[in-house]
Amino acid sequence: LIPRLASDSPGELEEFWLRAASTLNVPQILADTLAREPPETRREFRQLLSIIRGRSGGLLLIGRPISFQKMSPAQREQALFAMANSNIAKLRQGFQAIKRLTTFIFYSAPLPDGRDNPNWPVISFAPPPPPPATPKRLHPLAITHDMKLDTDVIVVGSGAGGGVVAAELAKAGKSVIILEKGGYYSESDFTGREAEMMPKLYLKRGLQSTRDLSVMLLAGSCVGGGTTVNWSTSFRIPDEVRLEWENSLGLSDFGKDLDTHYASVEERIGVNLEHSKTPNPSNLVIERGCTKLGYHWEMIPANANHCEGRCGACGYGCPYSTKQSTMVTYLQDATDLGARLIVNCSVDRVLIERGTTTGVSATVTDPTNGVRYNITIHAPRVVIAAGSLHSPAILLRSGIRNPNLGRNLWLHPVAAVIGFYEDPIRSWEGSLQTRYSDQFAHADGDYGFKFEVAPAHPGLIGMTVPWENGRSYKALMLDAAHVAPMIVLVRDRNSGRITLDRHGEPIVDYPLGTYEKRMLMLGMQHGARVHAAAGALRVGTLHSRPLLFDTSPDMPEERWKKYDQGVIERGLQPNRSIIFSAHQMGTCRMAGNMRQGVINNDNLVWDVRGLYVADASTFPTASGCNPMLTIMAIAHRAAQAILAGM
Ligand SMILES: Cc1cc2nc3c(=O)[nH]c(=O)nc-3n(C[C@H](O)[C@H](O)[C@H](O)COP(=O)(O)OP(=O)(O)OC[C@H]3O[C@@H](n4cnc5c(N)ncnc54)[C@H](O)[C@@H]3O)c2cc1C
Repeated sequence: LIPRLASDSPGELEEFWLRAASTLNVPQILADTLAREPPETRREFRQLLSIIRGRSGGLLLIGRPISFQKMSPAQREQALFAMANSNIAKLRQGFQAIKRLTTFIFYSAPLPDGRDNPNWPVISFAPPPPPPATPKRLHPLAITHDMKLDTDVIVVGSGAGGGVVAAELAKAGKSVIILEKGGYYSESDFTGREAEMMPKLYLKRGLQSTRDLSVMLLAGSCVGGGTTVNWSTSFRIPDEVRLEWENSLGLSDFGKDLDTHYASVEERIGVNLEHSKTPNPSNLVIERGCTKLGYHWEMIPANANHCEGRCGACGYGCPYSTKQSTMVTYLQDATDLGARLIVNCSVDRVLIERGTTTGVSATVTDPTNGVRYNITIHAPRVVIAAGSLHSPAILLRSGIRNPNLGRNLWLHPVAAVIGFYEDPIRSWEGSLQTRYSDQFAHADGDYGFKFEVAPAHPGLIGMTVPWENGRSYKALMLDAAHVAPMIVLVRDRNSGRITLDRHGEPIVDYPLGTYEKRMLMLGMQHGARVHAAAGALRVGTLHSRPLLFDTSPDMPEERWKKYDQGVIERGLQPNRSIIFSAHQMGTCRMAGNMRQGVINNDNLVWDVRGLYVADASTFPTASGCNPMLTIMAIAHRAAQAILAGM
């Protein structure tokens, strides 16, 4: 994948071409990473290696019965490219598993002696400055033995939903315990370095995906959950979504007072437009391109203040406390009022006796030595806010049998369309999301897609840039500083499902529906035109069979046909292109009746007393906009309902 390549370029550049993955200790880091995966994943990986190691693998991939080790470098590249584009889904999946890990490590990991990744200077990446020393303001409970505790309310998860509920209940004088599976990292821990922060702050150390690897799932797992790592975009749901929720799911009261809840949350997390007044070059692409084409674009409201675009590493936690995550707002309020926070604490199940909630059982793992402690907490009320992937898993493990549980998973699937610009873009610098376009938000009735931009640091760029052979891949990486990644964020209609594996962990299945594929492709087609109008010299997609296309600002529509055709021909079968999701929604959805949902209008699980859900999993359908603010408003609303029932 990343071989040693001859070059007549001078100095650092020659070293870059000569640098193979093996010289950066990538195989060992990859092995260490896989060692932390469940046995099933390791078994699958070994099976994959044994296929490509065998002579039949050679026959399958390059039409010659030779094992991978015996192939010439050129044959190996041919074999890998064949794997990436194979008609056998498992081979494409295998290629993605190897490529994503290898390239992420190669472009993000430090040297064994701690020095910076040597690839950074040639791609013009400078890591953010070290975080200023800031004292830790939360004080999680130290757990050093098995224990039993009592409280009024247990809140499971400290993200967008959990943080708000915990604070609102603590404000009302209730005794609250917040249980968070992830660790507590705060400002002075946020180095902005991908290889270091990804495993600490993200679910499954950043490796969460759908079962077939076809959608990469980004979700926070730390104190503050997604709000610690997210990009600050703070939208209210569009009116048509609110109507859809009220009219099709028997939630006629849903919208009542919702604006009051939004307003309260917006005030606490300081949503403002001021932050977006200084767009970075990536966001300016949307402004310039959409203005030129006469398309809609607007500034994005954000829950960040006085950011001044100092670093651009918000995806790895804000070292300056300017992003108003739940860690610096609601969890601070809750713990100041006496709420207890337990971290590295995974809730195994809710305890339910004769239809009434009595508490939870959980496991605390000491991150320094792996020692585990069992804790049982008794409470008459439990609020599950573990996010759309884990909330249904906890309820399934607790024996809830509602057939809707785990179903109706929406992901807002995202494809990127990239533009190459003459001037540097450095998508890793400045405020992440400040411009969006809803030009195609109603491409299909109330459904369609948004254009936004995504920040990309070297590891993420390495993971996603198409690989055709070692040389073309590195040549693309050399352009990294000049690439603007625009994203097509689709409001999905079709949904996926969460089930449990044999260890009780969630398995995510999400086949892209025909409508979602059509929207993603339409987005890639029109996004390229926005790039061209903004002055991109070349545009491209993230398909495994690269689609790169030279452009000019006033290119006639006739010429676009070839590019449009390229998008359609490559298609969106699993693992033929990179698809992301940072917005997991649904799986415990709210509905006015038990036939359609898992919780009622008051966030109470149907048929169980004292058990509530208050996070993204409650969404009745996909929100059609970045969900954080709506999750918080729903959690704020849920807190009032819980208090009313106490
Ligand atoms: C990189 C990224 C960028 C994003 N950008 C934006 C944005 O700009 N605007 C926006 O609106 N949205 C954004 N989002 C999405 C948004 O952050 C999430 O939708 C939101 O945080 C979800 O809230 P939640 O309460 O459902 O779950 P989360 O915030 O994910 O919190 C759930 C918490 O529960 C914990 N947990 C899970 N299982 C257990 C268990 N068994 N026991 C105890 N704890 C458990 C998890 O560790 C996690 O911390 C982004 C997300 C990501 C990942």
